[in-house]
Amino acid sequence: MERPSFQIIKCVWRFRSRCEAVTDTVFFQNRAGANKGSGGVAGAAETAIDRRERLRKLALETIDLAKDPYILRTHLGTLECRLCLTLHVNEGSYLAHTQGKKHQTNLARRAARENKDLELQTQVPQAPTIRKKVFVKIGRPGYKIIKIREPTNQRMGLLFTVSLPEIKAGERPRRRFMSAFEQRREIPNRALQYLVLAAEPYETIAFAIPAKEMVEQEEDPESVWEHWDADEKVYSCQFLFK
Ligand SMILES: [Zn+2]
Repeated sequence: MERPSFQIIKCVWRFRSRCEAVTDTVFFQNRAGANKGSGGVAGAAETAIDRRERLRKLALETIDLAKDPYILRTHLGTLECRLCLTLHVNEGSYLAHTQGKKHQTNLARRAARENKDLELQTQVPQAPTIRKKVFVKIGRPGYKIIKIREPTNQRMGLLFTVSLPEIKAGERPRRRFMSAFEQRREIPNRALQYLVLAAEPYETIAFAIPAKEMVEQEEDPESVWEHWDADEKVYSCQFLFK
């Protein structure tokens, strides 16, 4: 079966002291190069069942059920998601649920609420001076990038997984998109945009990705999502290009 493979070239560089930029180029090959069992390129033939299985495997990789704060085992042997108040017959179905629209939306809502609380807390007693944060950087976090293709309408996307075991206690990774002209590390290339991820005390990293229009999260929250696993210290986010 001949599948059209696509190749994205990415420049991943780290922000070093001052303006020195180190550029790594990561080439993505066709399906053979994709990480088996954790996504890869979803072909046109992929069914809904395959997709669920893929999500379940991905969840297995990134979520440790023993540390999941939302899982609740009932006396009937079923599982409940305490975040969404949903019932699940087994771990597989619970794991699939954690990657689904409802759970991700609830996670995002909760995170937004927590961030807001934090903002309110920090706003009150602070002096109005912005102090530059000083911390000892410990290098670049490990990351995995998987390119994905939607089975139905063939939209392409990227799934980023960043492992941050040494992240500062209570810290949550922060991400931001930057245009080629906003960043000051490389000669602007209008074909690129940058996904910048900061998590102290790691060095801030940026992934250069195609400057194509992306699907909004509200449009398709099942495909476009962000997740911070505070127990496993794994940050993941997924995007789709239009
Ligand atoms: Zn849930």
